[in-house]
Amino acid sequence: MPGSVVFGVSREIDGRAFVQHLAEPLPVTAELLALAGEAPPGEVFRFAAACATDACAHFDGANCRLAQKLVASDLDRVSAVPPCRIRADCRWFTQEGTRACLVCPLIFSENAAPAAELAHAADPFTWG
Ligand code: SF4
Repeated sequence: MPGSVVFGVSREIDGRAFVQHLAEPLPVTAELLALAGEAPPGEVFRFAAACATDACAHFDGANCRLAQKLVASDLDRVSAVPPCRIRADCRWFTQEGTRACLVCPLIFSENAAPAAELAHAADPFTWG
């Protein structure tokens, strides 16, 4: 998407994968994407772009239902709100507050084997 940035990279500590937020978001370029090597960039980098509102199936006209479902889910959380350079412009944060930030670092832009709760949240045509 135009204006997309990378704001985090996937890391793993003690077998647990999470998104490490960058000190500054970086514009998405071919050179940056090449750093993922053979891996799908969405599994390595966490991307952000301006909310597409009505162009996105998760948007209900007022809110992002993806954020609502993630916050309401039983997915794991981190124990502290991470430092984040895009917070001032983040729809998830604006809508759900720090509850979104506690689940956000455990969400990856692309996940080949999502947990059932995550797959449910990511499916814009399921609710409840
Ligand atoms: S949900 Fe919170 S941590 Fe995640 S991108 Fe938005 S402001 Fe940053």
